[in-house]
Amino acid sequence: DIGVEVSGPVRVASAPQLRPPSARDHKYSRGLVAVVAGRMPGAAALAATGAGRGGAGYVRLLGSATDRLPHAIVRQRFSAEALADERVGAVVIGPGLGRDDKARERLDLARASERPMVIDGDALHLLGEAPARVPTILTPHAGEFARLFGDLNGSKIERAIAAARRANAVVVFKGADTVIAAPDGRAIVHAHAPAWLATAGTGDVLAGVIGAQLAGGADVFTAAANGVWLHAEAARRAGPAFIADDLAAHLPAALGACL
Ligand code: AMP
Ligand code: MG
Repeated sequence: DIGVEVSGPVRVASAPQLRPPSARDHKYSRGLVAVVAGRMPGAAALAATGAGRGGAGYVRLLGSATDRLPHAIVRQRFSAEALADERVGAVVIGPGLGRDDKARERLDLARASERPMVIDGDALHLLGEAPARVPTILTPHAGEFARLFGDLNGSKIERAIAAARRANAVVVFKGADTVIAAPDGRAIVHAHAPAWLATAGTGDVLAGVIGAQLAGGADVFTAAANGVWLHAEAARRAGPAFIADDLAAHLPAALGACL
């Protein structure tokens, strides 16, 4: 509690305590993340890699033609059936999705699948006003936030909570000070990420990491907070001037520090 008067407890982010897999686990029980690709397959590939290195047991990249992926990431045609697989624990959609009719159709089908969702990037632009009906995490940067929620009053924490209420979703309001807010008024402030994260594609990796945490069984608020922490910790370990492609390689060590 940092003594900020909002509507619920506000915490400063701290290292999560993560559970290592047990002998009884298998790849599906550790969490299957489905990443929906679109116009710019590189961004979806970054999200898929973030999910894989962020602790998922299985990552499927749906509807992408790219070959530039670790072999462990399984490519599959995009279809409603692929999303209906009951083993899918989280759908990540938005990085590189595009904003055309095909993108909109993919988003509609993803929402109809009623899987827990991480909604980022282009998918935030396509999202309507309707509050989420399934566990959902939105990961806007400042521009995406303003476009989605308009001019809200108050501090970044207050605005993030108001947005979470309106969307009925956990909102990860990104930036140098990332605020993770829940509809019930809880919030976590993470203000120690290296500014080297201000480089193209790092947000795509974050969406994947959060997806991995969600598919692994964490609730939406915990998954978002864990993902933001692991992402920043990986950035710390990546050192200066990394590019987003390098970032995921540091996630396993970041995760290892939280066991
Ligand atoms: P995006 O804008 O979607 O590419 O996401 C960028 C990622 O980098 C998010 O995780 C931001 O929180 C993070 N980020 C951007 N700028 C900074 C900064 N100045 N300091 C720390 N993290 C940042
Ligand atoms: Mg982004």
